[in-house]
Amino acid sequence: MVFRRSRHDYQLVGWGVLCALLLFLTGCRSLPDVRVEERRGEEIVVAGRFFPAGTRVVTWLDAGGYNLYERPPGAPENHEPRRALAGVTSRRGEWKRLQAVVDQVVLHYDNTGSSATTFGVLQRRGLSAHFLVDVDGTIYQTLDLRERGWHATIANERSIGIEIAQIGAFPPAEAVTLTRWYEPDQTGGVRLKTTRPGSYRPLRPELIHGQIQGRDLIQYDFTPEQYTALAHLAAALNRVFPKIHLDAPRDAKGQIPARKLDEKTFAAFTGLLGHYHIQENKIDPGPAFQWEKLIRDARSLRNAND
Ligand SMILES: [Zn+2]
Repeated sequence: MVFRRSRHDYQLVGWGVLCALLLFLTGCRSLPDVRVEERRGEEIVVAGRFFPAGTRVVTWLDAGGYNLYERPPGAPENHEPRRALAGVTSRRGEWKRLQAVVDQVVLHYDNTGSSATTFGVLQRRGLSAHFLVDVDGTIYQTLDLRERGWHATIANERSIGIEIAQIGAFPPAEAVTLTRWYEPDQTGGVRLKTTRPGSYRPLRPELIHGQIQGRDLIQYDFTPEQYTALAHLAAALNRVFPKIHLDAPRDAKGQIPARKLDEKTFAAFTGLLGHYHIQENKIDPGPAFQWEKLIRDARSLRNAND
């Protein structure tokens, strides 16, 4: 067990009131408002504090949660504190540094189709993403966002990583692989073969064809439950980290590029991006991912909460 902070650190009933009072007295604008007075099971954890996300979140502290502070014996480390926090001792100092350094959210699909399976894979391989979004829209938070996850090479220090449960995209010649994960249903579309209770379908029933890094790919869409969860999560992250803009990279025509960004564009970009925008050898979250929908929905949730 390498989890070093006590649970007491996260018992925040009362903390919110105290922080709000301190903020009021000091006039400090660097902390977002804290509205959580009691937990509803819809909060994310940032630097030891709970923030409302408006959708179901199971944290590593909760029963049934996935704790990436714990690793099997012999497994490599899968996170470390963000370098930007080195030497910071005050809570306020930590916040200011975190808000200055965290400016990207990287979306992945997990290639397993199940957050439970992905958790085991991350643990064993010494990789980490802060959030896992399961097919039913449940968000699992595995680490405090003060930690640097290991999920996207050059983006790790500045980003939050999200693994969306899905088997992923394939070259058209490998279409048969998808039949292991999807089956026809009575609506004329497909549904996921899953052992989870309930029935889950891609938001668009048809197989999506598209290109990433110039490669032809086929993929089913993500579930409506996952899009809803992601919109809430993106809106909450934008509220906590104002540098995370609710937009994806755009080319000169306003289109979201389906390939790796050049070095300068990546360095300057702050907002939501795919793993494939960072590394040429990656194709996730794939051609079926509806960026414009996520951006539209997250912005409207953000505006509704202001
Ligand atoms: Zn990825």
